[in-house]
Amino acid sequence: MITREKINETLASYDKKKLKVATICSHTALQIFHGARQEGFKTIGICTAERQKVYEAFPLGCPDEFMIVDDLNKIPSGDLVEDNAILVPHGSLVEYSGDKLDRMQVPMLGNRESLMWEKDREKMFKWLTAAGLQVPATINPDKIDRPCVVKLAGAKGGRGYRVVNSPEEFYEHFEGMNVTVQEYLIGVRMYPHYFYSPLSHEGYRASEGKLELIGIDRRFESNIDEAYRTEKVGLSFTPSFTVVGNELLVARESLLGDILEMGKNVTEAAERLFGGIPGPFCLETVVDENLQFFTFEVSARIVAGTNLFPLGSPYTAYLYNEPMSMGRRIAREIKLAARENKMQKIIY
Ligand code: AMP
Repeated sequence: MITREKINETLASYDKKKLKVATICSHTALQIFHGARQEGFKTIGICTAERQKVYEAFPLGCPDEFMIVDDLNKIPSGDLVEDNAILVPHGSLVEYSGDKLDRMQVPMLGNRESLMWEKDREKMFKWLTAAGLQVPATINPDKIDRPCVVKLAGAKGGRGYRVVNSPEEFYEHFEGMNVTVQEYLIGVRMYPHYFYSPLSHEGYRASEGKLELIGIDRRFESNIDEAYRTEKVGLSFTPSFTVVGNELLVARESLLGDILEMGKNVTEAAERLFGGIPGPFCLETVVDENLQFFTFEVSARIVAGTNLFPLGSPYTAYLYNEPMSMGRRIAREIKLAARENKMQKIIY
């Protein structure tokens, strides 16, 4: 694992007036480039040749320059350092870069250690329980006695997941595979997007700084989210959970206290366990009929649900007097940290 000292050395060598914002052209890249541009940064898109035209089709979300690679898992870390770049991690970057993440010499927004905690489900649950959150039970495959969702390793957007009801059904589909078996949660899914800033003075008090609720989404997953149609035409089907898009969700206002408190507790547990989580993160929750939250996943970086809000959300409207996306909020934090000489607080 590359040390904080090494990253701080790299940051110290950067020209603070010519910082660039870089990411892989995927996931939330349009929003990250758009927000960085609004805050006055030049941007770099790590992209394959065939994807370039997709980004060029959106001039305000298109990076200023492309670094063309033949595979998105090849992040040209050394070139990015030469270019004075800060890499912004997102879901695809975490998935594609695998275990190279912890060795990359390019400074990354946030605490890269938090991404290791996100990727390892055992660690993730340790983090969520240390934060005092209610989580679904993890079930031993031989003891499956209720509907359970079986999850493949990694951030694959729900692909390959399946609900099973018994050990026999489990072994029929997942024998010998690296999976997690979780109790199936019943209720409404809610995915709040947070931004924790150790530098800010506005928002909900958390750790040494403030927590902002930037938005909330819910996902559309194929085919479970259109199940009623499938059933209506008389077809039987196996539910699947492949994420295909997102929709806006506004929580009833009386839930906001719980939502903010959960985010604060996750921030403070991160501080105790691995040195904190500056920047964006998201909790994947299900709210049951008694208005109880159960959290089944934490994403320690920007999530795709934030793409709903390129010009701000129903929550940022009460935080900012200007359009504020998560992408722009990230860029604003980098700008603030560079100005106050506190980059090592939000970048590792
Ligand atoms: P994940 O990869 O954990 O983000 O899960 C992908 C999708 O599977 C989620 O968005 C949910 O719709 C569904 N899912 C995951 N875990 C559970 C659970 N414990 N109970 C019910 N649905 C779940």
